[in-house]
Amino acid sequence: MGNRKHLYIVGLLIMLTIILSGCLSNEDLSIHFIDVGQGDSILIVTPQGKSILIDGGEISEGDKVASYLRRNKIKKIDIMVGTHPHSDHIGGLIEVMNRFKVDKLFLPNKIHTTITYEKFLETATTQGLKITTPISGTSLSLEEDITLHFLSPLRDYGDDLNLWSIVLKLDYKNQSFLFTGDVEATGELDIINAYEKDFLTSNVLKVAHHGSNTSSTQEFLDIVKPQVAIISCGKNNAYSHPHQEVIDRLISSNIAIYRTDYQGTVLIKSDGSKVWSNTKPYYH
Ligand SMILES: [Zn+2]
Repeated sequence: MGNRKHLYIVGLLIMLTIILSGCLSNEDLSIHFIDVGQGDSILIVTPQGKSILIDGGEISEGDKVASYLRRNKIKKIDIMVGTHPHSDHIGGLIEVMNRFKVDKLFLPNKIHTTITYEKFLETATTQGLKITTPISGTSLSLEEDITLHFLSPLRDYGDDLNLWSIVLKLDYKNQSFLFTGDVEATGELDIINAYEKDFLTSNVLKVAHHGSNTSSTQEFLDIVKPQVAIISCGKNNAYSHPHQEVIDRLISSNIAIYRTDYQGTVLIKSDGSKVWSNTKPYYH
């Protein structure tokens, strides 16, 4: 009897180990749309644990972003992207550069003259970080099944900083995620004209420019055809983002919408064949 009981316990322990290791092995891609008020900050963690940080909100949000990374056990940033030089995108990245090792830093080839931008460059230099200008139309293979494509900027946009936004598409198996920075209609049109329609189709769309009516044209939405859209903006912001017409366009296109201003940080996950979230969409 004693022996049998012993075998039973051993069997139970083996089963428990198998179940637990199954739960702990991270086969999923995680995309965190961190609530930074009026701004953008997106943390992507790949199934093998690589991290990509796209933007960091205003300089005042730096501590919040850095703490969020720590809480999520991020040890270093493999790829940091400042989509464009506006303070609500690059500001918080300064604190992150000060507190984390960053392997690669991408910024568009457009200078700006603000104190935040200068401080950003200074910090990158202090940390020994070389700034790389991505070449649109190229891609990086991060690990098996994960590819990061640089879609835009596609030409010289003069002083329209939003149009200089680095637009990224991440592919994980048969799921795609589009990160648009603050790109506006002209840039969206350039993207539509530069790439195959099928290539632009994405399951998840980070809505451009905080849901502003400068962006997210019907034509662009019809080609990207997302099932899920995330709007990153601050509650009662001075720009009235997101604009109602963009919300209407997304709803009439049957796209589930998340908003960081009402829902806080939004976590989207994917196993490469579907996407899901920790919360219900705000509009669906
Ligand atoms: Zn912005």
